[in-house]
Amino acid sequence: MTELADAPVAAPSTDLDHITHWIGGARVPGSSGRQGPVFNPSTGVQSGVVDLASVDEVDAAVRSAKAAFRTWRSVPLGRRAELFFSIRQLVHAHREDIARLLVAEHGKVLSDAMGEVARGLEVIEYACGLPTLLKGGFSEQASSGIDVYSIRQPLGVVAGITPFNFPAMVPMWMWAPALACGNCFVLKPSEKDPSSSLFVAELLKQAGLPDGVFTVVQGDKVAVDALLEHPDVSAVSFVGSTPIARYIYENGTKRGKRVQALGGAKNHMVVLPDADVEMAADAAVSAAYGSAGERCMAVSVVVAVGGVGDDLVPAIQKRLPDVKVGDGLDPASEMGPLVTREHRDKVAGYLDSGASQGATVVADGRSTVPEGDGFFLGVSLLDNVTPEMDAYRDEIFGPVLSVVRVDTYEEALRLVNDNPYGNGTAIFTRDGGVARQFQFDVNAGMVGINVPIPVPVAYYSFGGWKASLFGDSHAYGPESIHFYTRGKVVTSRWPDPATSKVDLGFPQTR
Ligand code: NAD
Repeated sequence: MTELADAPVAAPSTDLDHITHWIGGARVPGSSGRQGPVFNPSTGVQSGVVDLASVDEVDAAVRSAKAAFRTWRSVPLGRRAELFFSIRQLVHAHREDIARLLVAEHGKVLSDAMGEVARGLEVIEYACGLPTLLKGGFSEQASSGIDVYSIRQPLGVVAGITPFNFPAMVPMWMWAPALACGNCFVLKPSEKDPSSSLFVAELLKQAGLPDGVFTVVQGDKVAVDALLEHPDVSAVSFVGSTPIARYIYENGTKRGKRVQALGGAKNHMVVLPDADVEMAADAAVSAAYGSAGERCMAVSVVVAVGGVGDDLVPAIQKRLPDVKVGDGLDPASEMGPLVTREHRDKVAGYLDSGASQGATVVADGRSTVPEGDGFFLGVSLLDNVTPEMDAYRDEIFGPVLSVVRVDTYEEALRLVNDNPYGNGTAIFTRDGGVARQFQFDVNAGMVGINVPIPVPVAYYSFGGWKASLFGDSHAYGPESIHFYTRGKVVTSRWPDPATSKVDLGFPQTR
């Protein structure tokens, strides 16, 4: 979570990229006088300044979106779908350009960034089916001469507030279904890695999206609060940390907005004694350290059941020296830096707190960082972690994997279910009966069976339980179509003067 009220102000410089807003189909430089720094995490060097919107600038952005709505919602479904096919083509053609922007500002390695864009593209592809997705129902002869049908209509101007860790994909989770449903969308990206949003805005314009339908306001808490308070914003989608998700949900719904707010996570991977230990170790290393652990679906805790830890921890440890940590543009790198220096230092602090609270530090990533000023932390492993320790209680969001050892499946299940978060979880076993029981019993929104990162495909919906999601709707997939539209039911009769009469009774169907 960032404290944005005190966002540092960087003096504009000709050497730095100037990252502006996107309003009315054009780059619009900020006028608030406030800017924030953007860094290349691999070098630790500031690469840009991002404008931070004022309340008035957010108002101008929302007004521009509102003005575009009337025309956009009237665009025939076939034309909208055609436009989405063009968007899909352009994003696909420029996927590496987008990925390189992600590497430059987030730090993740290029292959991982390409994966991010690919998963976002799947959501765009899903949205291409919008004529089918928006079909309503029809009941002929619900009563004599009366037909009843349901339609779904867009909400108007909807906003999306997104986190730093998926600067392209998470916005795609939101804008693709929101626009497909006929809304105008105002995006407030993370101020840590804002450039890809502007690039995508250019692509949407190039595809033929009318001006004002997609808007980007760069900013911090000021912009977020302005969106939450704006009377013309009908709905807010948020993805980020749990305290801010709760804040967004409470403050958005208080003002009558529809809100879905996805929060943080602490994902457990339960490994049973009958699991294939080598496969479980591969999965744990991949899921814990991919994207330097900065994924809301990263495995943060391995729960080793009934002695399997004695084989599993050495198997994980054996793999760690092979994980190549380095600049995301180096094809040899498998794991990049963390997003900021402060975040890296905070994550590294869990190695000290873990040691002082009784965990065994199997691997300390501070000793395996590349040279230079990049925000690197190597892969780190804590064994014998217990639920009272900070490393277990907090969402670390970095390359520190904890192993908790328990005696039984029931104990493992209790641990997962007692955790305040409920985003993803996984079980590794060869026993189909136990796996099915886990799927039945576990309190989490996304479950993997021998799959460590069970991010649903685009035609299902993504979301957690408990403190990982506030609101009723999950992201993308069918639930997003529901979230970004409201239902209307029409009861219709064509006048037949021959049967018309005055009847003050309550309408009945039989
Ligand atoms: P964050 O909560 O700090 O920021 C998210 C967004 O909220 C940003 O746009 C930011 O500008 C804004 N924001 C930050 N502080 C604010 C404040 N005080 N008031 C109003 N707005 C504020 O999250 P982050 O650090 O960018 O992202 C990492 C977090 O996101 C992790 O907790 C991770 O688990 C979570 N996340 C969750 C999912 C999910 O699907 N559940 C997906 C990705 C990331």
